[in-house]
Amino acid sequence: MNILVVNSGSSSIKYQLFDMGGGERLLVKGMADRIGLEDSYIRSDSPSKGEDRRDMFLPDHHSALKAVFDTLQQGAAGAKDIHGVGHRVVHGGEAFSASVLIDAHVMEALRQNAELAPLHNPSNILGVEVCRALLPGVPNVAVFDTALHQTMPPRAYLYGLPLELYRNRGIRKYGFHGTSHIYVAQEAAQRLGRPLAELKVITCHLGNGCSITAFTGGRSIDTSMGFTPLEGLVMGTRSGDLDPAVALYLVKELGLSADEAEDLLNKESGLQGLCGARDMRDVIARAQQGDEAAQTAIEVFVYRIQKYIGAYTAALEGLDAVVFTAGIGENSAYIREKVLKPFVYLGLTVDGRRNEEGRTIFSRPDSSVYAMTIPTDEELVIARDTCEIITRHTHTASERPGG
Ligand code: ADP
Repeated sequence: MNILVVNSGSSSIKYQLFDMGGGERLLVKGMADRIGLEDSYIRSDSPSKGEDRRDMFLPDHHSALKAVFDTLQQGAAGAKDIHGVGHRVVHGGEAFSASVLIDAHVMEALRQNAELAPLHNPSNILGVEVCRALLPGVPNVAVFDTALHQTMPPRAYLYGLPLELYRNRGIRKYGFHGTSHIYVAQEAAQRLGRPLAELKVITCHLGNGCSITAFTGGRSIDTSMGFTPLEGLVMGTRSGDLDPAVALYLVKELGLSADEAEDLLNKESGLQGLCGARDMRDVIARAQQGDEAAQTAIEVFVYRIQKYIGAYTAALEGLDAVVFTAGIGENSAYIREKVLKPFVYLGLTVDGRRNEEGRTIFSRPDSSVYAMTIPTDEELVIARDTCEIITRHTHTASERPGG
């Protein structure tokens, strides 16, 4: 079964085509980028054919996805061989605690949730609509960034706000990066040879966006991102946690418009705001050259992660493993070691050499908590869910009388 994974954003559409029959093989991946701009292009990369880039004007999502399907048709794996499409949808709200087959009801619920994620959901929905139009008869599945965290208890997801705001307007913590957190948590459990349900695990997704999740009983019980992806850790350009009065101060005292304040917190803060570089490789390079702002930015970034690990260890009432993933988590032994340094008090000790070598388990053999590095694969999670839901649906349909 060939599954196409689509991540439709406002100006780009990323895709990966997997052969899920009898294994999990990536056939081709690529993206349509700068949609709506004159210098738009389409790029693909397959193990068999290598990289290919073509400049072409892609005025909208329809033309971009059409170009993607045409490219697939010309390649080794034809578009006619797409048996299902899995869509990354950022916000599932409280309506979705798992991936779903998309029908008219689901489309309606997705549109309602668009209010909660105005920056992401409308582009995600557009991707679904275009696929439904261009590939009639091919089932579409929605996989949500938020679904994993629907298992959080009220004490974790409620803010200290008037309850009506939650009941009437859905203002609560939702959490994001769910597909990444569950993938690395399950992989970690597998590497340790134990069911995830028996482990207390903290997963740290440290990429451009950063979040951290606490797992016990196989479920997410708390996570650092909130109502939006702005809450929690200090990120490439997002502030993470701050006194909400700061946002009001920006508007009331400094005269920023609401949109300007939103941009400042999402696009000009975090590492970028603290030291003028958003990419952790640049921040580390500057810090090593003696740049004090970069050194402080790393301290702030690391300290925030440490506070969350401490808090989640308390929430979990213990800890078996800390897992690092995404660009920074997978590649920076320096950040991993710095983050874990104080946790010697928990009996967690790092093997410096294994850490430098990027080994899956890099804690010392006598450490009471495992320290692990696991590369994430969000697209594979989407492909797996899509494949499973389509297979289940096909079986159910064929078991019905006359089905
Ligand atoms: P995204 O959230 O966009 O998927 P990634 O998971 O690719 O992002 O992470 C991007 C981040 O990873 C950037 O800050 C980048 O600097 C960082 N990164 C990648 N490689 C390294 C490395 N070797 N050392 C430190 N940071 C790294």
